Amino acid sequence: MKIPCPHCGERDVSEFRYGGDATRERPAHSTGDLKAWHDYYFTFTNPKGPHTEHWQHVLGCRQWFKLRRNTATNVIEGVVE
Ligand SMILES: [Zn+2]
Repeated sequence: MKIPCPHCGERDVSEFRYGGDATRERPAHSTGDLKAWHDYYFTFTNPKGPHTEHWQHVLGCRQWFKLRRNTATNVIEGVVE
C-alpha cells in the first residue's frame, strides 16, 4: 500500500505509523470525568469502509496528517485538511 505524504509525496506504508481514528474528540484536559477518559483511550469502533485516520510519516518528515482510507479495500481517497 502506498500513502501520499502531503510533504514528501507517495511512499510505502512501511514508512508510516497508524495513529488512530481522527474522528474521535479528545476530552477537555480539565475534565475529571474518568468514564470519558476511559472511553477515549480504551473503547474503539472498527469501522468498515471510508474512514478518516491519523498517520505519521515516521521514516520521513515525521509529520502527522489525516488520511481518508477505505478500511475494507485499503483504497486511499487522499489527505484531509
Ligand atoms: Zn513525509
